[in-house]
Amino acid sequence: MNQRTRRKFIQRTVAAAFGSAIAVSGKAINPKKFHQDYEGNKESIKITKLETFKVKPRFLFLKMHTDAGIIGLGEPITEGRADTCAEAVQEIGKYLIGKDPRKITHHWQAMYRHSFYRGGPILTSALSGVEQALWDIKGKALGLPIYDLLGGPTRERIRVYAHARTPESIRKAREEGYTAFKTGVKNSRQSGIVASPRFIEEAADNFAELREAVGDDADIGIDFHGAISPQNAALLIKALEPYQPYFIEEPVQCQNVDIMADLAKKTHIPIATGERIFTKWGFREILEKGAASILQPDMCHAGGIFEGRIIAGMAEAYYAAIAPHNPLGPISLAAGLQLAASIPNFLCQEQVTLGEGYITKPFQVEEGYVPLPTDPGLGITLDDDALADKMGHDWLNPETYLESDGSVVDW
Ligand SMILES: [Mg+2]
Repeated sequence: MNQRTRRKFIQRTVAAAFGSAIAVSGKAINPKKFHQDYEGNKESIKITKLETFKVKPRFLFLKMHTDAGIIGLGEPITEGRADTCAEAVQEIGKYLIGKDPRKITHHWQAMYRHSFYRGGPILTSALSGVEQALWDIKGKALGLPIYDLLGGPTRERIRVYAHARTPESIRKAREEGYTAFKTGVKNSRQSGIVASPRFIEEAADNFAELREAVGDDADIGIDFHGAISPQNAALLIKALEPYQPYFIEEPVQCQNVDIMADLAKKTHIPIATGERIFTKWGFREILEKGAASILQPDMCHAGGIFEGRIIAGMAEAYYAAIAPHNPLGPISLAAGLQLAASIPNFLCQEQVTLGEGYITKPFQVEEGYVPLPTDPGLGITLDDDALADKMGHDWLNPETYLESDGSVVDW
């Protein structure tokens, strides 16, 4: 067989093996057909419907239906924009319906990049909730928790923290089993551009009372909520340092990363941020500039579970840790726990509900930790009976003003 004949023989053999959809000799394949037909060696599953519904106090839940009877859950919401996000989910549905839900990375790329205008809170939150549901379906189809599909588990139990603003509430949370907490800055909305010495002193004293209430073994983060001016942030961090907060969260707004990086360099307390940062591209600058060493991607805003895994990998290279942000519902919590269970650099998971009244088996906290979930997918089942009296809400973001002159302030 001469060289030309041999090449033709190989081309014929390859074409026979892979079918006519995949061409040889430099001809393009048919990507749409490949992604439409691809099912590997698995039973067919197609997405049939994306159903969203508002749940009190301010949540938006997604049920992604399939023709296999598997339903995937997600929380595709930006707080205060539930209706806008619900509409964004339906627009994503025009792409997803009829497709196999198990090609998650491919769908993420298509949903994110084909929108042309990338990112932002609404589109990335809608995408995040949809992505959670895709993982839930894939895990349920394979009978495995999501962390198992991401190379886990990396830990036996997952630390969670509770919110507390007063000595009474932090003691109560301690009695409920929590060992890590987060608080806010006392009267932060009235701090102004340059706060008085009394404001700084009272804010530090307030934190000192919490430290006194639970002792030096407890971890207490403090969230500036992006509501403190850079002028005040440096002073307040300095005043808090003797009580060693677990972390200082959003010491300033995150739109100017250099300002946060300057604050990070002035203190020994870890800086945390991430709830208003989207995708790997958003977190890149935070890491490169050393603006934070604790990243708080929100599973409902940052791009979903696997995007969280990618961000965790980027963080690992900077010796930064991951503390998933979550002021939302039990689906968001379940997604964060799956991420926590699959990464090496997890710190602590935020929660505001363990799922009581929302899911059939609410999470339990013991000695500050939630046991590793073991059920497939996200590991939770909605309690439809308990949800019946929580359907619908009109939650809006608060309007906050400086009392001294009526000007707008952050909350
Ligand atoms: Mg926060």
